Amino acid sequence: MRQFAPACEAIVATTKKLAKTATVADYLKSRSVDEAAVSAVFLSGRAFPAWEETTLQVGGRSLWQIVAELAGKNEAELTAAYRRHGDLGAVAGDVLPSRSSQGVHIIEVEKAFRQIAAARGAAAKAELVRDLLSRSTPLEAKYIVKIVTGDLRIGLKESLVEEAIGKGYGATLQDVQRANMLLGDIGQTVRLAAESRLADARMRLFHPLGFMLASPVESAEEALSYFEKAAIEDKYDGIRAQAHVSGGEVRLFSRTRDDITESFPELPDALAGLPRDAILDGEIVAWEYSTGRARPFSVLQQRLGRKKVSDKMLREIPVAFLAFDFLYADGRLLIDLPLRERATMLDELLTADKVVHHRVAETQRKVRQEQLQFDTEDNAARASVIRAPVFRAASAEELEELFAAAQERGNEGLMIKDLNSPYTPGKRGKAWLKMKRELATLDVVVTAVEYGHGKRIGVLSDYTFAVWDRDSDTNEARLVNIGKAYSGLTDTEIADMTKWFLEHTIEDQGFRRIVEPKIVLEVAFNNMMKSDRHESGYALRFPRILRLRPDKLAEEADTIDSVRTIYDRQTRP
Ligand code: AMP
Repeated sequence: MRQFAPACEAIVATTKKLAKTATVADYLKSRSVDEAAVSAVFLSGRAFPAWEETTLQVGGRSLWQIVAELAGKNEAELTAAYRRHGDLGAVAGDVLPSRSSQGVHIIEVEKAFRQIAAARGAAAKAELVRDLLSRSTPLEAKYIVKIVTGDLRIGLKESLVEEAIGKGYGATLQDVQRANMLLGDIGQTVRLAAESRLADARMRLFHPLGFMLASPVESAEEALSYFEKAAIEDKYDGIRAQAHVSGGEVRLFSRTRDDITESFPELPDALAGLPRDAILDGEIVAWEYSTGRARPFSVLQQRLGRKKVSDKMLREIPVAFLAFDFLYADGRLLIDLPLRERATMLDELLTADKVVHHRVAETQRKVRQEQLQFDTEDNAARASVIRAPVFRAASAEELEELFAAAQERGNEGLMIKDLNSPYTPGKRGKAWLKMKRELATLDVVVTAVEYGHGKRIGVLSDYTFAVWDRDSDTNEARLVNIGKAYSGLTDTEIADMTKWFLEHTIEDQGFRRIVEPKIVLEVAFNNMMKSDRHESGYALRFPRILRLRPDKLAEEADTIDSVRTIYDRQTRP
C-alpha cells in the first residue's frame, strides 16, 4: 500500500479526467502485474472483483468503533472529526497514530480482505480489521477504510480505470471494456492487457453482465422520434433478472448483481429445460396463471427478502420469468447483434423448448388486445419462462392504444426498443425507451432518519432523502437532500428498515441519525418548489414514499438534473 495510497492522493488532487487516468496508468505500469491487478480492483472502489460474490460485510458502526479505539478517541472527538471530513476513511487518516510501522503490502491487504470476508460473525471480522489497520500507516488506513466502506471518493469510476489500463498497456479502450465486461474482473483484465492478450477474454457464465437501461419518454410522439423500427413490449412491474443457464445449472441475478436464485426456487426448474446454454434478460413477476396477467408489484414484494420461501408462498404467489432478451447462446455472445436478430433467436429458443406454451396467435396481437392467453396446462409446476409479447405500432395513436392496453392489463406502461440496436450492458441510452404512468416520481437515497410519532414512536419512520449532484467535469457525485417524508411503508418494512438503520448509523445526533446512503426509495409528490430548506435548492410538495427499491443501487438514484427537468416541465406555461 506504500505506493497505492499516495497514488490515490495524487488522483484526488486533480479534478481533470485526463490527468487522473494518466496518474493511474503510470502507477499501474510502475507495479508488478500482480500488484497492478489488485490495485485496479481497489481503484474501482471494490475489495473483490465484480464477478465474485464475496463481500466483506463489515458494518459502518463496527468500523467506526475500531477507528475510535485505535485512535484512542471518544465518541464526541470522532464525531467532530467526522463532521470535518464527512468520510470515515479520511477520519482514519487524520486521527490514527503514526507508528513506526513499515505499513502493509497491497497483496497483504488483499489477503486480509479475503480472511475478513471468510470470517464468521461481527467480532471475528472486527478483530481482523483491527489487526489490518494497526499494521498500516495512517495514510494506508485511510484508503483501506474507504475500500471497506465501498466508497473510495477519489473521483475515479471503473470506466476511468479501464481507460488507464488501455493507456498504460497500449490497448484500445474498446478492447479493455469488452474484456472487463466478459470477465467481470478488472484485475484479470489488467493481466491480459499486460500480456497483450485481451482478445483471449471469454465470457464467464454465472457472473452477471451489466443490464441495459432505458430512458424515459413523455409522449408517444417523443417515443417514435428516435428510431424507425420499434419492438414494443409491456413494461412489467416486477424485478429485473438476468438468468444464466448452463448444463442444468441456473442462476438468477438482480440489477444490483446479487444472486437471487434462492428467492425463486421454482424458476431454475423451468429454465434448466432450455435446449442450450443461455443468458436471458427478463423481468420476474408475480403471475396470475388463470388470466395470463402480471399481478401488482406489491404482491411480488411479499416474496422478497426471505431466506426461505415457504410452500404456501410458492403456491399463493407463483411467479413467471418474462424473457425479453437473449444475450448469450452456447459460447457465443449475442449482444452485438441487432435486437431484431436476438428477438428472433429468443422466439425460437422458447418455442423450441416448449418451456413456454405461449399462444398469442397473430390475430390476437391486435392493438386492443385486452388479455393475453397462455396455455399452462402442461405447466403443473406453475413457474414458466414466458416470451414477453412483442407489439408493433405504426403511429403515435397506435402507441397510445398499446399504452392504454398495457395499463388495462395492470402493467406499468410500455418499453419501446430500437430493433436495430445492439445490447449495451450497463448503459442508459435512447435505444430503449420507457413510457410510464406517473411522470413525477423520483428514486432517492435515504441520508438521515428520525423516530416517528404516535404509534411509530419506537421506530425510525421519518426519512430524509437526497438525489445526486454530479460535477460534469470531474464526474464526482455528492448527495444533496431534497425532502423528508413519513414512511408510506408497511409496519413490517419499517421494522426491518429500523433494524437496518440502527446497524448502519454513521452518526447518532440524538434526535436523528445520519445513515449510510444505501437505501433507495421511490417517492411521488404533487409538485416541486424552489426552496432553501434543503441543500438541493428544491423541495417536494406532499412527498409520499411509494416503495422501497431494493433492486436499485444508491448510485442509480435520480440526479439533480432530473429534478430540474421535472421542475421546468411543471412551470412551463
Ligand atoms: P425503471 O426501473 O423505471 O428505470 O424502468 C426500467 C425497468 O423496467 C427495467 O430495469 C426492468 O426491470 C423493467 N421492465 C419491465 N418490463 C420490461 C421490458 N419489457 N423490457 C425491459 N425492461 C422491462
